[in-house]
Amino acid sequence: MSGNGTGPRLLFLFLDGVGLGTDNPMINPFAGAAMPNLRSLLGGQPLVASAAPIESPRATLLPLDACLGVPGAPQSATGQATLLTGRNVPAELGYHYGPKPNPPVAAILRSSNGAHAGNLFQTLRDAGKRSALLNAYPASYFATIESGRRLYSAIPLAVISAGLALKTADDLAAGRALSTDFTGQGWRERLNSPDTPLLAHVESGARLAELAAAYDLAFFEYWLSDYAGHGQDMAVALSLLATFDEVLGGLLAAWDDEAGIILITSDHGNLEDLSVRGHTMNPVPALVIGAPELRRRFTAGLRDLADVTPSILGWLL
Ligand SMILES: [Zn+2]
Repeated sequence: MSGNGTGPRLLFLFLDGVGLGTDNPMINPFAGAAMPNLRSLLGGQPLVASAAPIESPRATLLPLDACLGVPGAPQSATGQATLLTGRNVPAELGYHYGPKPNPPVAAILRSSNGAHAGNLFQTLRDAGKRSALLNAYPASYFATIESGRRLYSAIPLAVISAGLALKTADDLAAGRALSTDFTGQGWRERLNSPDTPLLAHVESGARLAELAAAYDLAFFEYWLSDYAGHGQDMAVALSLLATFDEVLGGLLAAWDDEAGIILITSDHGNLEDLSVRGHTMNPVPALVIGAPELRRRFTAGLRDLADVTPSILGWLL
């Protein structure tokens, strides 16, 4: 399990704003959505609180506490920083904060206080492991960052703090990265980038598996789920989940369960309860896909968001 690139690999598929909610299709799109690929991992059940915990032939689902002992609804910056450092960031700060990191959260992600081990990407870099964020970022993103009009969110900040480059439009065009909507449609329509390659949903899932194979840790951030949760539109949410399920189908078909595991998890609840506009205090799913013996080792210590980085490092190092 050691050596550069020879150990088991991990694909971290991060879904922003996805909790485990009630099995009520009036408020929870996961209860009503036709998600055959996701349900196949859960013994036919939807991704709702009553489904967890479960161990099926191909996946294990556990609930993870996202509140971390701190009052109030969890937020993206502190939740993601916790996922990426193994530190209980809301408890250290005394509050949940987001969506973008404030200076204290940014300092934790950059490990600039020097008293702690680095973030997940830094630690893997120092151990000689290969990791990457597979999302492509358009030129306009880098321009607004440079001008100060945009702050990094937690995940890209952790990545660049490890000296890793964010993937670009060139990477997307060359098939070395994926667009946040998986298909490239958004780049064509909203980023004035009509030459962006267009992938079918199933193809983008296969691409995710193919790209992950080059790394010890491959990370993909999907934030449209949180966006849809704030939007509170059931039809939009159901359509988003149907799309995600097709991507998942492509990923599952291409993934070698003996060679590595896929972790699907989140920073806080939101999309699973469209009756409220903000985040929820529900647990988030830790859906771990792979061979049973690999999963058992990976999930042994998983209870809350702060356990994710230790589990990943225990797995990859
Ligand atoms: Zn949000």
